Amino acid sequence: MKNNIQYYSNSDFNRSVISRDITRSIQHTFSSFILYNKGSFLHDAQQNIYFDTIPQEFIDQVEYTCFLGKIKTTEIYGIDLSAFSKDTIEKLPKHHTFRLKEASFLSTEDAALLAYTQGLLIWNQRHTYCGACGSKTKRNQQGHSRKCPSCTNSIFPRIDPAVIVLIEYKRAHQTPLCLLNMHRLEGGYRCSLFSGFVEIGESLEDAAIREMQEEVDLKVHNIQYQASQPWPFPATIMIGLKAESKSLDFTVDNDEIKEARWFSPEELQQMVQDKKIIISKEGSISKFLIEAWLKEHL
Ligand SMILES: [Zn+2]
Repeated sequence: MKNNIQYYSNSDFNRSVISRDITRSIQHTFSSFILYNKGSFLHDAQQNIYFDTIPQEFIDQVEYTCFLGKIKTTEIYGIDLSAFSKDTIEKLPKHHTFRLKEASFLSTEDAALLAYTQGLLIWNQRHTYCGACGSKTKRNQQGHSRKCPSCTNSIFPRIDPAVIVLIEYKRAHQTPLCLLNMHRLEGGYRCSLFSGFVEIGESLEDAAIREMQEEVDLKVHNIQYQASQPWPFPATIMIGLKAESKSLDFTVDNDEIKEARWFSPEELQQMVQDKKIIISKEGSISKFLIEAWLKEHL
């Protein structure tokens, strides 16, 4: 599938993985800092998210700093301010705070960098103790792993895979149908795809088959990979799949799924134009997959 670069991902960003193992002191002159505090990021009066000058005491606390990569020759660091006192945070240059999922002013590149920053900082926050022996762990590889000094256990960030599936029903000599999850809104619906986490011991296909059986009681087959999207809130990757159902008879689980229905591409497009339906949330892989399906068949 072409043009499958998803929001929150940016393969052009230089993560400079090789630099993570080089121990050095952070130089203000060659660095820029992204500041994160308890679920929010900071920007200056011009909505710039890169702070070039911050008090040295923030940089000295290396336990809360992660090396993210480079933009040209500038090293980019993320700093978790959660551990600093309110008085200390007030020493920072004048700033405002915002939540990543609510920020519409960001470029796609900056949104991807902030998603990466948030995921990595939260992972460090939540792994300060060793899962094997309970001792305090130490930041390693500039924030990309942690090490337990007592039992030498090394801990690396884990990503939770989730499948998101577009279920199709193929009709002879007509366009196919697509089953959508319907959320009631005032004056209409928002539709989306079905999704669920991959469990231990499952392939992506196994997870898609089980989840579709659980949510809408359909047996799917012919599962095809479409695209993927990082969703580090805090640690998911969404794997977009397309699957076929031989039956039209579905039953919603009435737990996660309340309403669902089959659409032809023509019908879905008409309802979107009539403002009776909104296709998924902006920037989501669900929206991308449904719109790609419409484009394919109209
Ligand atoms: Zn340990």
